[in-house]
Parts: sequence; structure tokens; C-alpha cells
Amino acid sequence: MGPQIRAEPSELIKKILVANRGEIAVRVVRACAEMGITSAAIYTDADRHALHVKKADEAYNVGPDPVGGYLNAHRIVNLAVAAGCDALHPGYGFLSENPQLAEICARRGIIYIGPSPEAIRAMGDKTLAREAMIKAGVPVVPGSEGNLKNAAEAVKLAKKIGYPVMLKATSGGGGRGIRRCNSEDELKRAYERVVSEATKAFGSAEVFLEKAIVNPRHIEVQVLGDKYGNVIHLFERDCSIQRRHQKLVEIAPSPQLSEAQRREVCGLGVLAAKTVHYQNAGTVEFLLDQDGKFYFMEMNTRLQVEHTITEQITGVDIVQEQINIAGGLPLSYRQDQIERRGYAIQFRINAEDPKNDFLPNYGRITRYYSPGGPGVRTDAAIYTGYEFPPHYDSMCAKLIVWALTWDKVIARGRRALMDMGVHGVKTTKPFHLEILNTPEFRGANFDTAFIEKHPELVNYSVHRPPQDLAAAIAAAVVAYHGL
Ligand code: ADP
Ligand code: ADP
Ligand code: MG
Repeated sequence: MGPQIRAEPSELIKKILVANRGEIAVRVVRACAEMGITSAAIYTDADRHALHVKKADEAYNVGPDPVGGYLNAHRIVNLAVAAGCDALHPGYGFLSENPQLAEICARRGIIYIGPSPEAIRAMGDKTLAREAMIKAGVPVVPGSEGNLKNAAEAVKLAKKIGYPVMLKATSGGGGRGIRRCNSEDELKRAYERVVSEATKAFGSAEVFLEKAIVNPRHIEVQVLGDKYGNVIHLFERDCSIQRRHQKLVEIAPSPQLSEAQRREVCGLGVLAAKTVHYQNAGTVEFLLDQDGKFYFMEMNTRLQVEHTITEQITGVDIVQEQINIAGGLPLSYRQDQIERRGYAIQFRINAEDPKNDFLPNYGRITRYYSPGGPGVRTDAAIYTGYEFPPHYDSMCAKLIVWALTWDKVIARGRRALMDMGVHGVKTTKPFHLEILNTPEFRGANFDTAFIEKHPELVNYSVHRPPQDLAAAIAAAVVAYHGL
């Protein structure tokens, strides 16, 4: 029996307000288009020419404040009501992990495409999430019970846990508000800095402490839950290739796990989601230590940047599932109907200069060539002539490749990266090509310290001669002439 794919989406959702920008707004608009749902975009003045505005059925201006425009929950929900929307999709970043947005939606009769405000609260706060997981029997990284009162308490606790430790903002995200401390001195110096960083970036001064796992792998489980208590997983992703705690390359499934480890971590992911009665799409993040033990790290109660690679290996459209779940439909799949095939890799193409400490690099995209061919997907926010604005995330495109085997997906990644052309701004593309060339990546043996261990990766030459192509043409000429 095949999966029960429905022809008809939820009766309740005919029009969605997309409360985001950039590639993720485009992604949601695409899901709407395939489901026969009308999409309404929002945009600030700075985003007047953004791709999501062009792709959506309707678009509404939210004013001159480039970031604030996407953060004003009351105003955005008002707009959804005024525009006749039934539902709102928050995307990632911005208001996507703000329980108030979900509550305002509920009050105003707008379906929030995401988990309940209670689940967002329970899991969005890293300390509360740790407590809930400990109760449920999910192993968590050893660390503080609750938040820290002051630096002295941090020092006392760190002595007990043992250095190195990680000092973390309780409501942190996006790799910010995290500091590794190798000694008491470092911890004392880091404390006030992390507190002030957390206050500025996340509006909360709360911090907590965790044991730093040495050279871990970042393994995360994609889960889906519906309103009827069904929770399934869509296997795991390996996001160990990171720079400063930010993901750069993501892989599904992890090429570093045994089948037994895969079963274990996916089971833990489902248990974590069930514990908080999780509805909609979410991700449970784990660290895998060098002894093969998994530790819960945090849960992201939203669609993730790297959901794409899971879609490529399972064939499940996660955004369409999100919409159907929010519209009150049961999951389209039972766990035993989820199959995976091959490997997928996502490269985050950021407008950053790897040779200049990854300095963001905004400006006009003078030319953009989207790569194509078998097994290639691009989720991008740029086009030729687009003025890439300085106010937002530096990620300008996601390049996703799929192939049946690990070796083939690496070859395809390399080919697709070469195929892709982003001109006018410097990007992380050449850096990704260097990553693909390392023996660790090719041999599927890397941890979160990989980038740190390879400072030489930024020494690529920008105008890389197409050596392979030249050699291939030369060989073909020789063969043709029978030389
Ligand atoms: P993912 O976890 O989906 O891989 P990232 O961690 O890269 O995604 O975050 C996606 C986007 O959301 C980034 O722009 C990041 O800055 C932003 N973000 C994530 N968490 C938060 C948060 N707690 N507060 C503000 N922005 C956040
Ligand atoms: P964010 O909310 O910013 O995504 P996370 O808690 O998920 O923060 O941590 C981000 C990254 O930081 C992880 O993927 C991992 O590489 C590193 N990290 C976090 N906690 C630890 C830890 N206890 N030990 C080692 N590395 C950690
Ligand atoms: Mg995380």
C-alpha cells in the first residue's frame, strides 16, 4: 500500500500570509502554488524588489523599518486578517519561535502554521527544554539545572562538571550567544559578555552552562506531529560542518552513523517530540560524542533552513505537510511509509568573503546562473540585477544536490557548485568546493571542529581554471582523431 497522498488539501486554508522574506518566503509561496492556495507576501521598503514579492500572488508593504517590519506581530496578524487570509506561515528566524505570534494568531482566528504556543515556550527556552527531556528520560548534555544566577555560580558549577564548558544564552539561536570556555579565567571573562550579547540579541539575560563535548557530531532529527497525537520522524541530518556554531553544509542522512545509531537517535527524536505533545514540523538536535553517545541539545520549533535535504531523501514535502497539519488533517504518512533513498547535501551559499574572515558582502548581483541537471535543487533569493540588501541574513541561496551514493553525491555537489554562478558579490561557493576536496569529507569522517582544523581551506584561487573540463576536452579530441 502506498502512502495516502491526498488530492485535496485542508478545506480550512485557502489563503496564507507568509510572514517572512527571502528564500524561505519563496519556498512557502511555492508550496501554496502547488496546493492551490493563494499566497500573500509582506515586504519592507528595502525588500521592494525582493524575489518573494515577485513570486507571491499578493504582496503588502510593512513600512520603512527593514528588520522591524518583519518583527511586528500585531501588525502582521492585522494584515493577515485584512487581506482575508486563513493562515500564517512564520518561516524561520524573525518571529518563527515567538509564542506570542502563535497566540495573537489564535485570538484573531488565523491558523498558525506551526506548533502550539505552549510547545514553543516549553522547547524555545533551552533550560526548560533540558528539564523536560531529563524527566522524559532523553539523555541531555550534563550541565546546570536551570539558569545561572551569576558568574560565581558558573565558576562553582564548572569546577564540578570539568572544563571545557559551554556558556549559552537560554533563548539563543542561530549560533549566537554561545561561548566555549577552557578555564576558570576564560569563563569569568566570558560571563558578562555572553549575558550582554544575549540581552541585545534575544532580549533575555538568562544563561546556563553545559559540559563541552569534545569534537562532537551534530545530528538532528526531523519530526512531524499532527493534532491526533501521531508523531513520526523523517530520519536525521548531519550538520557537523559548521563555522562558529553556524551550519554551513548539511547532509541527510548522516554518512557517519550505523543503522543502529540511526534507529536510536530517530527514536529519541520522536520521544522528545511526544513528550511535549508536539504538533507540526520540528527538529530535535543532538550531539554525538566520541564514544558514540547521543545527548539532546535543543529543539527548534519551526521549519529549518536545511529541511530541503530531508525532502530530497524522503520525497515528503515538509512545508505542504505543515500546512495540512495546521489545517487539521492527520499526517499523510505512517512511520512505516517513510522511505529514504540516497544522500542529499545542502550548501549554504552566503554572500560572505571566506578570504576576509567571512565578512558579509552585499551589493548588486550582476549575474546569476542557477545550476541545473539531474539531482540539483536551488532555493535562492537572488536573481540577475538584484541589489542584495545589507539589513538581513547573508545567505543568498541554498544549493541542494541528491544522488544514490555518498561518492556520487560528492561528485554531483562539485559539479553543481561549478555550474552555479553568482557574480557581483563574493560568496562561500569556492570554500564549499575546498571542503568537498578534503579526505575527511570524502571519507565521511568529520566533526564540528572540522573548519577550525582546516584554516587552509580559504586559500583557494578565485579564478579556478576548469582543469577537469580542459582535460576532458583534450582527451576527447585525442580519441576523435585516433592519436
Ligand atoms: P537552522 O537551525 O534552521 O539550521 P539557523 O540556526 O541557521 O537555522 O537559523 C536560521 C535563521 O534564524 C538565521 O537567520 C538565524 O539568525 C535566525 N535565528 C535562529 N534562532 C534565532 C533566535 N532565537 N533569535 C533570533 N534569530 C534566530
Ligand atoms: P543554536 O540555538 O544557536 O543553534 P545550539 O545549542 O544548537 O545553538 O548549538 C549550536 C552549535 O554549538 C552546535 O551545533 C554545536 O556545534 C555547538 N555546541 C553547542 N553545545 C555544545 C556542547 N555542549 N558541546 C560542544 N559543542 C556544542
Ligand atoms: Mg541549534
